[in-house]
Amino acid sequence: MARFENTPVTDLLVVGAGVAGLSAALEAAAMGLEVVVVDAEATYGGASAISGGGCLLVGTPVQAALGIEDSVQLALSDWSACGGPTADLIWAKHYLEHSTGDVYDWCESLGITWAQDLVSHVGNSVPRFHKPIGSGARIVAAICGRLRQLPIGWQLDTRVVHLEPGGGRILATLSASRGQRGTIEARAVLVATGGFASNLSMLRAQPRLARLDNLLCGSSYTSDGSGLALLEEFGAQIVNLDEVWIYPIGTPNYRFPGMSRGLAVRGIYDEIWVNRDGRRFHDENNRGGVAGSAALLDQPGATAWGIFDSREAEHLLLLDDGYFGTSEYIAPHRREEFFSHSPFVWRSDSIAGLAEKVGIPVAPLEDAVSEFNQAIRLGQEVDPATGRDLRDARPIQSPPFYGIQYQPLAQKTFGGVRTDLGCRVLSTAGAPIPGLYAAGEVAGMAGGHINGTAALEGTMFGPCLFSGRVAGITAAADHRGRFSTG
Ligand SMILES: Cc1cc2nc3c(=O)[nH]c(=O)nc-3n(C[C@H](O)[C@H](O)[C@H](O)COP(=O)(O)OP(=O)(O)OC[C@H]3O[C@@H](n4cnc5c(N)ncnc54)[C@H](O)[C@@H]3O)c2cc1C
Repeated sequence: MARFENTPVTDLLVVGAGVAGLSAALEAAAMGLEVVVVDAEATYGGASAISGGGCLLVGTPVQAALGIEDSVQLALSDWSACGGPTADLIWAKHYLEHSTGDVYDWCESLGITWAQDLVSHVGNSVPRFHKPIGSGARIVAAICGRLRQLPIGWQLDTRVVHLEPGGGRILATLSASRGQRGTIEARAVLVATGGFASNLSMLRAQPRLARLDNLLCGSSYTSDGSGLALLEEFGAQIVNLDEVWIYPIGTPNYRFPGMSRGLAVRGIYDEIWVNRDGRRFHDENNRGGVAGSAALLDQPGATAWGIFDSREAEHLLLLDDGYFGTSEYIAPHRREEFFSHSPFVWRSDSIAGLAEKVGIPVAPLEDAVSEFNQAIRLGQEVDPATGRDLRDARPIQSPPFYGIQYQPLAQKTFGGVRTDLGCRVLSTAGAPIPGLYAAGEVAGMAGGHINGTAALEGTMFGPCLFSGRVAGITAAADHRGRFSTG
């Protein structure tokens, strides 16, 4: 087996070029380490590049400008209430304390602008969800822009398939997509391979998810859990893999064989959700992973239909497949292609016609739509059917009418490899494994399971970026400690 050319012994091998791996590479290279970055895909970015990149941050200038008083203590208490007993509150506090300096300010130093309005997500006492202009893709590109100024080795389109210790170093076996195999020897390895939301059999193997036979997988294609297998072989401690973040707004991606991959439907708000009986069951404004998913999973067949009109249809966005665009943009012809090609989308000029096409009873659906419209026309602020806030709602009245079938969509995985606060990977016995680091979603966003069973939105991208930086800095500091003579 040949070594990969031009890559003899490197100081740090970074496996995975998402936000965690790239941030780590930047820190380590800036501190003087020779760094090689390997990624399975032909381009960098992973799930981070298709992510909204929204970050839960505390004490930022945006909060101050909006007069929002927040504190680490308050955020931590929200975090704990949402995540439950398995949330790693030591890591969560570590993140929250550094979120302004090490995420908000750091991103600004790379040229990122944060939106000046904040989104208020369920579970937060005050608004904290910060949106970077240009989404996750812009942050990834900004970090890469800096990396290009440093002497980094890149090995794209190449998977790390095995890691093995030997002689105080780690030997990584690589497999390139064109069949070439080889090895890289590294003094340290940082695994940042993302989660496993695209690996349906791994998801189904988790006891909590086994009963969901319509579960769709999401995230980027290479979020397949291969990094966890590498780490497990190495004796690392892996925890809480059954804590998976599921969204209720998934619909099968008809472009994917078997249609087991999902698309996340975004941009649609003036819709109602009905179940198989044509009845509403939930306040559709609460469409996130906490309340929305629980409501969907309670319905017969764990499925529902989103019903909306042609005006709302113009806002549809589809995530998790770059073919359809980004979290901010979809070309109108791709949107139309989705509407006309997906077997999980129906269209009709009347609500009765739509119900017949979808296969749900006509009368309950007609009643549900007319009661919703009536409440809005009467100026009611609260929807009598679900308690939904109707102040900004628009009636469903402009034909054609649309129905999209929703199924549970796994998009983020909350468990992973345990690390200490410096991102050193811990063994099954709880001791740091020399030379091995992990950050990002493979480490449950940070530390192993920073979130617990549920998450306040924005607690993935930020902790992935933060833990990546921590991992890079720790790897560089450990390297100095090991090799300094003075
Ligand atoms: C559509 C979408 C929207 C999201 N929006 C938000 C949001 O707004 N806010 C939020 O907090 N979170 C969000 N998330 C979650 C968040 O973006 C991710 O958790 C985070 O970006 C993961 O970063 P990462 O660097 O750990 O992994 P990734 O970005 O997935 O990078 C991992 C990289 O490792 C590579 N890789 C995998 N295995 C191997 C291997 N064996 N060898 C070599 N390379 C390998 C992959 O190709 C990939 O490039 C979203 C996720 C998705 C999918």
